Amino acid sequence: MAEEITCEKCSGECCKDVSIYYREPKRFDDFEIMKWLIAHKDVCVYVDHKGVWAVEVKTPCKFLGQDSKCMIYPKRYTLCRDYSASECLMSECPGEYYSRIFRTEEDVDIYMKEIGFYEEYLKEKARRENPAGKGPSTHELIAEKKEEAVQAVQPVIEFSQ
Ligand code: SF4
Ligand code: SF4
Repeated sequence: MAEEITCEKCSGECCKDVSIYYREPKRFDDFEIMKWLIAHKDVCVYVDHKGVWAVEVKTPCKFLGQDSKCMIYPKRYTLCRDYSASECLMSECPGEYYSRIFRTEEDVDIYMKEIGFYEEYLKEKARRENPAGKGPSTHELIAEKKEEAVQAVQPVIEFSQ
């Protein structure tokens, strides 16, 4: 059995990043945003052991001391105060807080292939990258409708002449 990790033995791992919940990606835009997020330095997306998706930014808190202790401990934030080692991901699964992690575009592509969304993603990507594939703009649609109206009244005008 792995040795239990306690805050005393830990080097303040929970103070070295910011994790924000991210809804499970299912649509084209979700995956595009995910790729854009992880294109940034020290940003990744992961799924924890409970299946919760999160965006992680590796950046330490300004109040984490050289000794890995909080420098404002008595006045630390409510979020920090409410976070207990019993729910800490380090304690639940020491050394590996994620069941899946996305660090590169390839990681995202592999996932999309697994869930059977990759072909649809590529099609939508091509459609958006090709302005001609976007379909007519609102102005073009209005012009088209005007042309249809002109063609509809044309025989009437010709007949009455
Ligand atoms: S809550 Fe978890 S990650 Fe934070 S210091 Fe304690 S054991 Fe380490
Ligand atoms: S305020 Fe203290 S406990 Fe909270 S994240 Fe910063 S170093 Fe950690």
